[in-house]
Amino acid sequence: MPEQVVQQKTRGFICINAHPGGCAKAVESQIDHILASRPGGVSGPASALVIGASTGYGLASRVALAFGFKAKTLGLFFEKPPSAKRTATAGWYNSAAFERRAREAGLYAASLNGDAYSDELKHAAADRIRRDMGKVDIVIYSLASPRRVNPRTGETLASALKPIGQSYSGKTIDLGSGEVTTATVEPATEDEIRQTVAVMGGEDWRWWIDLLLEQELLAPGARTLAYSYIGPQLTWPIYRNGTIGRAKQDLERTAGDLDRRLAEQIGGGAWVSVNKAVVTQASSAIPVVPLYISLLFRVMKERGTHEGCIEQMRRLCFEHLAEGQAPAVDADRLIRLDDLEMDPDVQAEVERLWPLVSTGNLDEISDFAGLKRDFNQLFGFDVPGVDYAAPVETVIPIEGIEL
Ligand code: NAD
Repeated sequence: MPEQVVQQKTRGFICINAHPGGCAKAVESQIDHILASRPGGVSGPASALVIGASTGYGLASRVALAFGFKAKTLGLFFEKPPSAKRTATAGWYNSAAFERRAREAGLYAASLNGDAYSDELKHAAADRIRRDMGKVDIVIYSLASPRRVNPRTGETLASALKPIGQSYSGKTIDLGSGEVTTATVEPATEDEIRQTVAVMGGEDWRWWIDLLLEQELLAPGARTLAYSYIGPQLTWPIYRNGTIGRAKQDLERTAGDLDRRLAEQIGGGAWVSVNKAVVTQASSAIPVVPLYISLLFRVMKERGTHEGCIEQMRRLCFEHLAEGQAPAVDADRLIRLDDLEMDPDVQAEVERLWPLVSTGNLDEISDFAGLKRDFNQLFGFDVPGVDYAAPVETVIPIEGIEL
């Protein structure tokens, strides 16, 4: 494939291409962050299955486990490979870069690209674990998807980002134009609630763990974690009290059930980690949240407490998952990596700014510039040190995955 100049193409809150060099650099800097901040003499899980491993929190989990603990990783994701006409999706290039660095470091890394909700991918992952890894010590469940086909019923389920019970009107940013507008979202129907819980709730996580237990692919003491978000009250109508919040409550209940079974059968455990709000492809799609994030980033950066995915996953690994550590939890048995976000001073300042923010003062009182940079970087653009005028090879393989 001849090299080509790749310029960013966006549509609404999504970018429809990706820059391989920029994605690689962004992954490299996550790896370098972990290598530089890794405490001496620390050890942890030796082998990991990461479901949703190509972007956002799943990618950062994989980086932190592999380069923090030298863990073997099997990463699962649903990405588009490159073709003669199109670049790959960002998660493809991220995973190619991750695997390259892992191999250079002598670490086992394998990836499977396909639908993690399907039985087919579950069995392919189980076979790969049995063949190459023996058993896994940790399973990270970090899927974020608008859709799921339930393999047992064939039903296609769609997740909705809607309030429950009444419509919600609130400030939001149009990520394309940078305008602060009012979004009005009508309440979800009962069926939309059911479908969102089926996509983003705990059922599929449970089925993964059922299969791994059944096939004896979890090592003694193995742990599993899924991720959630709570956030401040100003996002609750659309998040915590909305359809996605229902799904997260289901995920949290599932953690309780899985924890009991894993404890009983293999001396292991299951937890939900509540992570901080960050810019990812998933969070960019939620109304209200990107505007909240712009204000939050400004306030947290001023205080020096700002974190992205990799800083969060570094804390998760080294403060909760290292050898000899039990995850620290709150009264609801949740790991709270959102502690710095939920700091009362931080939240009071965001609450003070929220009614004031408008299109006119967005750049002045919020970190919209930081949000946009993070958004562009998700797709490999706006990454320092990358020459975007230079032609690049876009057909990049991930070793072990056929194009
Ligand atoms: P993301 O969009 O960056 O990543 C989603 C991952 O899931 C990607 O690797 C993607 O390839 C994979 N995926 C999607 N559908 C798939 C399928 N059918 N089969 C296989 N892989 C599939 O999302 P994210 O923001 O990192 O979200 C991950 C988790 O973290 C979610 O549970 C989310 O709710 C949670 N979380 C996110 C935030 C935030 O601010 N972004 C905060 C707290 C918790």
